[in-house]
Order: sequence, then C-alpha cells, then structure tokens
Amino acid sequence: PATLGMLGGGQLGRFFVAAAHEMGFKVWVLDPDPHSPAGLIADRHLQAGYEDFAALDAMAEACAAVTTEFENVPAATLDYLAKFIPVRPGAPAVAVCQNRIVEKSFLRDNGLPHGPFAVIQSEADIAAADASLYPAILKVARFGYDGKGQARVANVAEALHAFRQFKGEPCVLEQMLSLDYEVSVVLARDESGKVKCFPAVENQHSRGILDVSIAPARTSACQRDAAQEYAERIAERLGFIGTLAVEFFVSRGQLYVNEMAPRPHNSGHHTIDACAVSQYDQQVRALCGIPLGEPRQHSASVMVNLLGELWFEGGDPHGRYREPDWSVLHAVPGLRLHLYAKHHARHGRKMGHFTVVGEDPAEVLAKAMAARAAIGIRDE
Ligand code: ATP
Ligand code: MG
Ligand code: MG
Repeated sequence: PATLGMLGGGQLGRFFVAAAHEMGFKVWVLDPDPHSPAGLIADRHLQAGYEDFAALDAMAEACAAVTTEFENVPAATLDYLAKFIPVRPGAPAVAVCQNRIVEKSFLRDNGLPHGPFAVIQSEADIAAADASLYPAILKVARFGYDGKGQARVANVAEALHAFRQFKGEPCVLEQMLSLDYEVSVVLARDESGKVKCFPAVENQHSRGILDVSIAPARTSACQRDAAQEYAERIAERLGFIGTLAVEFFVSRGQLYVNEMAPRPHNSGHHTIDACAVSQYDQQVRALCGIPLGEPRQHSASVMVNLLGELWFEGGDPHGRYREPDWSVLHAVPGLRLHLYAKHHARHGRKMGHFTVVGEDPAEVLAKAMAARAAIGIRDE
C-alpha cells in the first residue's frame, strides 16, 4: 500500500493515522517527541526535528505525499519536501495561518470580516494604537495556541507591560469583542478546487481553551450559510488543499473571522462519530486525490474536551496523580470516549475528549453536560 507522511504527532495526527489505516494506507510520522500520540500508532515514527534534513529525505523517499497536523511546521520544511512529493496544504497557505499579522492582513485584503486590530512591532506602535481598541487582547503573532501567548489588557500601560513580557515579539492588539457565541467551520478542498463543508459548530471556551462543541451550531440558517461562504472563500483564496478550519466570533449578531487552522480542528472531532465521513477521512482523501466524501451529519452531537487537570485529585496541580474513573462515562448511552494516549497529564493539556450523539439535540446536550459534571469537570 501507499505510504503517507504526517508532520506532527499530536492527537490530530493520531486520528489521521487511524483514518489512513482504515483506508488502506501506511503512515510515517515526524515528531521529535518519543511518546507522541500519532507516533505510537504510526508505521514508522521518525523521531527528529522538523528541520532535520536526513529525516525529511527519508520521508520524501518513503511517502507518496505529506500533510501536517500542526500549523507551526517551518515553511522551509514544507518547501523542501515539496521538491520531491506533493505537500498538502502547501507552504504558502500554511504560512498565512502561522502568523497572526499575515493572517489579519489576508482577511483585510480579501474583504473578510474581522475585528478591529493593530499590528504591534514596537512600543511606539502601542503608543500609536487607537484608544478605541481597549479593553483589548495582545496576542503574539507566532506560536500561540490554547490561549497561550495572549494577555488581556485594559489600557496602554498594561499593553506595554504585556509586550515586554512577550520580550518584544511581534504581536497583534485586538479589540476585546463582546461575544454572543463562537462558531467554527471545518471544510475540505481537493486539488480541483471542489469544497465540502461540514455543518458549522458552536464552541464554548473556558480560560481560552475549547471546552464544549455543539454540532450543528444553534444559530440561524442564514448565519450558518454566511460562515460557510466565508470559510469557502478563505480556502479558495489560500489555494488550500486538505482539511481547513475557520474560527468565528459572533458579536452583536455579526460574524467576524477569528483565526484559521490549516489542518483538522478540535471542534471537528465529532465528525468521527456524527458524520458520514470524518475531517480526518477528508484529509486523507484530499491528500491522495481520492474524491471527497459527503460531509453529511447523521446525528446531533456534543463534544467535551478532557484536560489534564482531571488526572489530579480535586483538579489540583499539587494533588495526587490518578487515572479518572472512565466507567462513569462508559455508562452513558450514545457516549464515546477517545483518549489520546499522552504520556503525562498537565494542567490545560488536551488528553482526550468524548462525544455524545443522538437524535434530539437538546437531549444530547443535556446528556453531555451531565456526563461532563459526573467525570468532575467544573465550571470556573
Ligand atoms: P486555539 O488555536 O487553540 O484556538 P489560540 O491560542 O490561537 O487558540 P484564539 O483563538 O485567538 O487563541 O483565542 C482563544 C479564545 O479566546 C477565543 O476562542 C475566544 O474565546 C477568546 N478571544 C480571543 N480573542 C478575542 C477577542 N478579540 N475578543 C473576545 N474574545 C476573544
Ligand atoms: Mg490558534
Ligand atoms: Mg482559536
């Protein structure tokens, strides 16, 4: 069978490997972490850095095509591999999603709605930024995820302090929007430009980390269509091939693009259990030039993230380390648990998730929230 390459060994890569295996492919995973979740189930785990050219040569030699699960793979790595084999998505599309300054400029230049922001390269830029941005949120342009590399700032003095804490790294300063709710759209685009969108998902965050995803989103059909159209336009303008996620804010009834992820997304995990094809199946299909599947959602679903604190007694980082009692979840009809086989639990680390599926959306939501409380997840 053909062998596929995956850059990154996290849970998104692990689900890709599982999907590829089910479809008859082998997968090589590149990730420096010896315990990476995807590496554990890969046909070969190249335990090396993303700029280790010997490892990249081995991957190019063995693999028919390569994809990524991690937006921070260096663009140079993607460019290097692209000399030998198809790399999907390609370096230019990934580069836009890697840097918040480039990403925001892309949105602006393509007429896509985004919140007010300023580019911050120096302390002078903070002094010059419009006062109407406050209260604001300062985000480092690169390498942030799960709310890391972000600071909420009420005024110029706080913004300066945060900028110094980020060691003067380039940042964007975004106006803090009052959120009605958040939605995301996951889609797949093939090499001929055909796009298949999953229904929009409604996302609830806790302390900057995704907590609960409700699919389909409980929003108007018109807003769902608009979000989908924006996501499709983004994919087209990026020349994207693969699975793409677009996160949106809904503020005072208006849609704003928050950010893009050039890969499957946490808010698309439910597609494994609730849709005719999963976001990972689509990633395999787009990568291999197999026609995309129909992203029909056959069941209402709610996904709940399981973070590392659950592994500590009382959710206390100094508490005793112990495996949660999963029997509480296994007893819930329609609930499916997915653990990522991560080596260590840490606070805020995504260790697994569960999905509840069923016919009645309200019933599914109530069941999922009851299960979430029963396993010990508390609201802050
Ligand atoms: P990830 O990549 O894991 O989704 P991230 O670190 O890239 O997260 P963002 O998506 O930028 O972070 O922000 C995380 C969350 O913080 C958002 O989903 C939203 O809940 C809140 N947030 C971020 N920016 C704003 C804003 N300008 N106004 C209001 N809320 C915001
Ligand atoms: Mg992000
Ligand atoms: Mg985000």
